[in-house]
Amino acid sequence: MGRRRSEMGRRQTIDPLVRAKVIDTWGNDCWLGLPGCTKVGAEDDHIVPYSHGGMDTVANIRRACKHCNASRQDRVLYGYGARLHMVIVPPGSCDREAVEWIDAHKSAGDPVVSFSTLTTAMGLTNPSLACRRAVAMAWSGAYRQFATSAEPIDVWLTRTTISSNRHPRLLDEWIALDYDLHVIDPGFSVEWERARDDATRRRVRQWYALHLSQALVDARRAERRARLVALGLRSEPVRIASRPKW
Ligand SMILES: [Zn+2]
Repeated sequence: MGRRRSEMGRRQTIDPLVRAKVIDTWGNDCWLGLPGCTKVGAEDDHIVPYSHGGMDTVANIRRACKHCNASRQDRVLYGYGARLHMVIVPPGSCDREAVEWIDAHKSAGDPVVSFSTLTTAMGLTNPSLACRRAVAMAWSGAYRQFATSAEPIDVWLTRTTISSNRHPRLLDEWIALDYDLHVIDPGFSVEWERARDDATRRRVRQWYALHLSQALVDARRAERRARLVALGLRSEPVRIASRPKW
């Protein structure tokens, strides 16, 4: 039954009257704004995905461009299912600084998805390139699962790079989905000292060339939050540097 429902989920079967009311209430601009967005609403996107029991109602539907609707892949907006906390850290000491920060902030039982803990769990001490790829696959698989979870759980993830081959603009995706984002920055000289080899030092230099900061991320989140408030999906502006609750 549930399977049948999710198979039908992609079909455009919204009542034209509901669609007209959605456009009248929320506009026809794409609500997602993921990287590659064409801006113009062409499809009906369920905020709570159809596969999670989301209804064909004006409250639960916003217009999305074809690209964003496909790119979203049933990932939930923060709090409409799982609450994803993404902790971004430079690569000097893998992500250990981020894991320590998460340990100090998470509740007991919250899942943590981090490169260093996955590496340890796989029994790797000095992983080869192939092993590091396996760790990255495990991270991505866990992310995909939690990102589409209907369960209202807090999930903590660490990340050193904010792009991947398949997703060159990860940070933009996380902001669009309103993830709770934290930038942990121990400082360039600290990270440079921690880096064990030239490859890591190169990655440290690349990370700092991005000029990522909590202030920059907060400004972008505030902008996105204002849009989500206008779309009726949030009732309040972003609370800076605190764990949001709603
Ligand atoms: Zn779009």
